Amino acid sequence: MTQYTLHTSWLFDPKIKQVRQNISVTVDSATGLITRVFERDDERQPLSEIIKEGDIDLRGKYILPGLVDAHTHVFLHSYDEKGALQQKRDESMTERTVRGVNHCRTALLAGYTTYRDLGSEGMQECDANLRDAIARGLTPGPRLFVATKVISSTGSYECRTENSGGGHCLPAGADAVDGVEQCRQAVRRRVAAGADIIKFFADYRRRIMRSPPEQQHPYIPSVLHPPKEPNPDYMVFSQEEMNTIVSEAAMARCPVSAHCCTREGALAAIDAGVNTLEHAYFLTDEMLKQMAEKAIILVPTLSIAEKLHSHRFDDILRQVKRAHELGVRIACGGDTGTFPHGENVRELELMIKAGIPIADVLESCTVGGWEACGADLCGRQFGWFAENLQADIIALDKDPMHSPDALRSVNFVMKDAKVWKVGGEQCGMV
Ligand SMILES: [Zn+2]
Repeated sequence: MTQYTLHTSWLFDPKIKQVRQNISVTVDSATGLITRVFERDDERQPLSEIIKEGDIDLRGKYILPGLVDAHTHVFLHSYDEKGALQQKRDESMTERTVRGVNHCRTALLAGYTTYRDLGSEGMQECDANLRDAIARGLTPGPRLFVATKVISSTGSYECRTENSGGGHCLPAGADAVDGVEQCRQAVRRRVAAGADIIKFFADYRRRIMRSPPEQQHPYIPSVLHPPKEPNPDYMVFSQEEMNTIVSEAAMARCPVSAHCCTREGALAAIDAGVNTLEHAYFLTDEMLKQMAEKAIILVPTLSIAEKLHSHRFDDILRQVKRAHELGVRIACGGDTGTFPHGENVRELELMIKAGIPIADVLESCTVGGWEACGADLCGRQFGWFAENLQADIIALDKDPMHSPDALRSVNFVMKDAKVWKVGGEQCGMV
């Protein structure tokens, strides 16, 4: 018998953004899917009469769908430990793979059953390989949707040293292309390499070598008179190039994500009709309304903004609240990896701090995450409770509606109907 049932007393249903009582969910470990969701009448028929051998009693816990982190980098570890340049330059591909495997275990145990991983950061297509290894059951981790290499223009998104002998960089983080035809080819190359999502940079700090106090550390005030903006972001693609990336990706039914840290970059990405905008710290009401109209999803990455843009973090929190008020679809993704995997819920905490109702935050981190992965384009359904959805279910020890730290007390984790954590302890991981 491959089917068994989880019995709950408190279950958050993100589709109606409400808590439901006495729901039972039957799952099938052969297919990894939910086969039935039903409400019990415990008065008429006590659970002791219907509970079967192998069922799981989660009454008294707080049940959510498995969480989705909509912006991660499995091969990065915290910038507080080591900068991106040092990680890419000094760590072997083997070390970075081992780290990635560990990050995936940690994320799963923190309740994250899906990662939208937006760029392998110098690891070529290893993100697609890790996705497949997890899917084949070789190592535990969230279900990965990956971008492989990001698409950027020449010299725009690369680690640099001052000994590069003509501008060469190491190792390549981006598929660097210029002009409409090369953009088209890059999308085709990414799709062929196994990308689930096309990620491109609308803008970046490409003048990084201008008056750098230290290599790749232009914000460290070690020179006496640095320019006012030592390391500004500028657009890296023209409107025409962005339009081509989006239309070419659409032909392969592949969602497109754009890194935008300037107003101009975000405007062009919105105009091109991308699926998700990452970061986007300079949105106006006009732009937010356009995003709402075009159903473009905002992934605010507050967790990294808190670290990199602390001087205007309150503005960024206000902007996210405004986006929510104007009906912009929000998905919850922290740029996890630049801060530790396992601390993913920091993003939810910051969205709550921005003033977004908790039920909406939980919805953004489940259904919103699925939509950011491309919704039905991603080939699977997850993030809520219904027949034929992936059986991704977590349980918390405390009520997330009333305890701010509840999201950090993950008691139980199931992904694809396989249990990875019970009673707060990992299980099935060797
Ligand atoms: Zn990122």
